[in-house]
Amino acid sequence: MNLIDVHCHLNHVLFKPDLDSVIARAKQAGVVRILVSGVNPEANREVLEYVKRYPDILRASLGIYPIDALGLTPDEVGLPFHKGKINLEEEFAFIEKNQDKVTAIGEVGMDFHWAEKEKTYLEQADNFRKIIRFAKKIKKPLVIHSRKAEAECIEILSQEIQHHQVAVVNHCFSGKKNTIKQAASLGHYFSIPANVIKSSSFQTLIKLVDINQLLTETDSPWLTPYGQRSEPAYVLESIKMIAQIKEITPEEAATKVWENYARVFGER
Ligand SMILES: [Zn+2]
Repeated sequence: MNLIDVHCHLNHVLFKPDLDSVIARAKQAGVVRILVSGVNPEANREVLEYVKRYPDILRASLGIYPIDALGLTPDEVGLPFHKGKINLEEEFAFIEKNQDKVTAIGEVGMDFHWAEKEKTYLEQADNFRKIIRFAKKIKKPLVIHSRKAEAECIEILSQEIQHHQVAVVNHCFSGKKNTIKQAASLGHYFSIPANVIKSSSFQTLIKLVDINQLLTETDSPWLTPYGQRSEPAYVLESIKMIAQIKEITPEEAATKVWENYARVFGER
């Protein structure tokens, strides 16, 4: 089986002691591609370094996390820290310069869990629109974070992307059934995290979405299906759950997800 983790944070401090073993376990489990996600300029540079160290399996997804963009992320999350607001234009220039090393733009989007909607909607929406337009310009798929902002993100994405110019992957999508259906009808993809084994809402997501629009992820080190820390090897749990719900074999599920991955991210 060729397994895919389209969203994780292997540059998190929790992976510093044993990254080699984490990658070895992923390969052992059948994982062939891992997209490491940046959240700010400092993290994006680090992600490119990581990809250079493990070119056979890691790929770069460079992003501007909505809370980092506002300068509101605290220093202790375990990822490279950015002080103050992010200068979007400067970061776009950096990403564009390195675009041959960049597989996707993400994570990006909006978040009304960590920032109040009343106070930050206009600025978050404005940043998000600029990021979508940039992704269209350099023709890279978008990996979306939409915590407590699912309907708002879909609305902006539907306005900004009319003719499927770039693919949209909703990561860890926690919207209601009607927002899932709306995003699916727009052709969006959904990446299913490994903690789906203990989340009925992610299981519902698998039921509602066509298998041709499903991907797999871990969001490592977070959202672990078991133990203290998630890691890319655990995407097998997402595959098993997709197989169970869609009533196919894990091998068939993995093949479908690999085909979806290749279609979205342009890799073979
Ligand atoms: Zn993430």
